[in-house]
Amino acid sequence: MRKILLDENEMPKEWYNILPDLPEDLPPPLNPATNEPVKPEELEAIFPKALIKQEMSQERWIRIPEEVRDIYALWRPTPLIRAKRLEEYLKTPARIYFKYEGGSPPGSHKPNTAVAQAYYNAKEGVERLTTETGAGQWGSALCFATKLFDLKCTVYMVKVSYHQKPYRRILMETWGGEVIPSPSDRTESGRRILEKDPDNPGSLGIAISEAIEDAVKNEDTKYSLGSVLNHVLLHQTVIGLEAKKQLESIGEEPDVIVGCVGGGSNFAGLSYPFVKDVEKRGTKIIAVEPAACPTLTKGEYRYDFGDTAGLTPLLKMYTLGHDFIPPPIHAGGLRYHGDAPTLCILVKNGLVEARAVKQIPTFEAGLIFARTEGIVPAPETNHAIRVVIDEAIKAREENEEKVILFGFSGHGLLDLKAYDDFLSGKLQDV
Ligand SMILES: *Cc1c(COP(=O)(O)O)cnc(C)c1O
Repeated sequence: MRKILLDENEMPKEWYNILPDLPEDLPPPLNPATNEPVKPEELEAIFPKALIKQEMSQERWIRIPEEVRDIYALWRPTPLIRAKRLEEYLKTPARIYFKYEGGSPPGSHKPNTAVAQAYYNAKEGVERLTTETGAGQWGSALCFATKLFDLKCTVYMVKVSYHQKPYRRILMETWGGEVIPSPSDRTESGRRILEKDPDNPGSLGIAISEAIEDAVKNEDTKYSLGSVLNHVLLHQTVIGLEAKKQLESIGEEPDVIVGCVGGGSNFAGLSYPFVKDVEKRGTKIIAVEPAACPTLTKGEYRYDFGDTAGLTPLLKMYTLGHDFIPPPIHAGGLRYHGDAPTLCILVKNGLVEARAVKQIPTFEAGLIFARTEGIVPAPETNHAIRVVIDEAIKAREENEEKVILFGFSGHGLLDLKAYDDFLSGKLQDV
């Protein structure tokens, strides 16, 4: 069978929270001013109560509200697809399956959490959400989700991307979002930068400062984050819970699970429901990151700010330092200096293996995928595909019939410039 589908009523009714199942307790986020654990009330200026509760929850299963499932049903359950033509091309005895998250309206896994976050904010009477975005994947997912719950959305978009990458901006505006090139004159932090440097091209750090300031200063407004935090990873577990059911329905169990990691949300979403299998049946779970931003493979495990500007609580994680500026690789979604604290604990305890791959080999892999399976993957997804191909070749050399499952985090139809650079030989390894 090429495509394994679930009925709408087989969509998960609960998200899976890994916190009670971690091999060690999660170190709490700290207030940088006091070095004391952050109190839930301290987060209420920027997040709704329900999400703060989920962030700290020790309950293993958390009910997905009907209103959220109803919107998920616009594109979920997503198909699990067997990459048979890729297997044949590689002449591998491995069976390769991918969970396709590119079919959501914004084209990635990100609306799985954007919809849940918009719902809880709307329910607590919030009228507007703010966020930051680089290339626009997260901003477009949040504009889509807020529109469906009648919330306003303000997206601070890094100024160079705003001008160089207009298509996701247009998508955000199509869904009714307000997109502001950052630094802007809307906030004090933006004005301070513009006074000194009117042509400042912006950065994610500056955009975060603007989005948080806007939320803190306006009673009816909260802020939203697209990765790293526990509640974001929690919402993404619909991916793995569905994949598990789909594989079970055809009598398969994964031996190798692969995903790409920026902050860790799509990777966690796919793999966390399978973490128990690592010790139970020797499943190998591989997190793939760019060699240009090697957080899990070369970072230090310590407390650091979650953002570049140093505004967030301190999180214990593998980090390259919050002032690390990664080279401008095309996989913009993977250029993050830290990683989700729960994922870092799994890596530290050897339950997840981390690998770093260079940019050109990831595009070589993406091209093979596009030319066999037809779908053009996002540059981020190409990182996972690189390792899948490496593992499938290894299975051929060792003549091992294993089952490989990977997360197809998004399509690349709005990233064609990256493919153009690769096809014309302009792409570089940094
Ligand atoms: C944002 C993004 C990522 C990386 O974010 P995670 O939180 O690590 O999942 C990966 N793939 C795509 C397509 C993205 O848009």
